[in-house]
Amino acid sequence: MMIVMQDAASEDQIAHIIQRIEDAGAKAHVVRGEFMTVIGAIGDDRELVASMSLEGEPGVEKVLPILKPFKLVSREFHREDRVLEIGGRKIGGGHFALIAGPCTVETREQTMETARVCAAVGATFLRGGAYKPRTSPYAFKGLGKPALEILAEARAETGLPIVTECMDIRQLDDVLEVADIIQLGARNMQNFDLLQEVGKCGRPVLLKRGLSNTIEEWLLSAEYIAKEGNDQIIMCERGIRTFETATRATLDISAVPVAQGLTSLPVIVDPSHAAGKRDLILPMARAAVVAGADGLIVEVHPSPEHALCDGPQALHADRFAAWVADVRRCIDLMGKVMSGSESIPAGVAGPDH
Ligand code: PEP
Ligand code: MN
Repeated sequence: MMIVMQDAASEDQIAHIIQRIEDAGAKAHVVRGEFMTVIGAIGDDRELVASMSLEGEPGVEKVLPILKPFKLVSREFHREDRVLEIGGRKIGGGHFALIAGPCTVETREQTMETARVCAAVGATFLRGGAYKPRTSPYAFKGLGKPALEILAEARAETGLPIVTECMDIRQLDDVLEVADIIQLGARNMQNFDLLQEVGKCGRPVLLKRGLSNTIEEWLLSAEYIAKEGNDQIIMCERGIRTFETATRATLDISAVPVAQGLTSLPVIVDPSHAAGKRDLILPMARAAVVAGADGLIVEVHPSPEHALCDGPQALHADRFAAWVADVRRCIDLMGKVMSGSESIPAGVAGPDH
């Protein structure tokens, strides 16, 4: 449930309500909006809290149930769009994030070259996998720790904050040394122990939607993270499994406005894993931006034909500037600003992706 405080509620009154919630064995999550403060009472002792009659307490405007199964991440609880600020770059509420980089860190040169291109075009964050979830146990599964060191070097040179995947709790300490945003992959969306550990660590999270998961299940996974006190979560639609085989997955564009209606967290789109084919990435990216996505995550490689992972969907690094110029026209159309690109002119749009 949520306790809506009066506009004029004092700090003491807010502290008193938090104390009462905690005394009842629940967790209090405070959201301070422009005009009012809302306190969420979340915990296994919800019924106990419900019987506390907080309505009569000084400073309390009203007490309301949160009707959705997910609570802290729901728009019911947090009405205004959340704007996350990570490494000095914003995402959400008009701030568009372009996350770009290789699927996998393969070599120092490949990663540094890609990172330089991403920085030059004004990308917001650099992606790169050190630990890769691969369908075949014989496929390249990433360099692990040495890849994290390469990513740290790429950040030091370019200033781009790093997004990298953590597949397992045993990798978390190492990933935390480098990641500005921890990616939780589609296959791990319901790894509940991992969700909770990442929730406890407090680092921003990029949560991919599972291949066969509903939007509600995806938001409940975000709730696992938020319940541990970490509400810096970016939701990422990356295509779902359908009967269609012409594309790697089916990009669920409707997930963008649907999820945005249900949560105030930023919702981004990964057209690379959805399409699986380079030539489809641009039209799908345009569609995602115009559908209202708060960002994109795309794979870029200096030499996609030699990539060890996901080459067919990687954008060519030497043509990435034209690709970004095209997408920026859509971002402009939506009245948003690409975070990190403010000092870089939008450039000449070109369809030669
Ligand atoms: C990735 O981003 O490289 C990746 C493996 O993504 P997903 O978990 O969406 O398949
Ligand atoms: Mn990939």
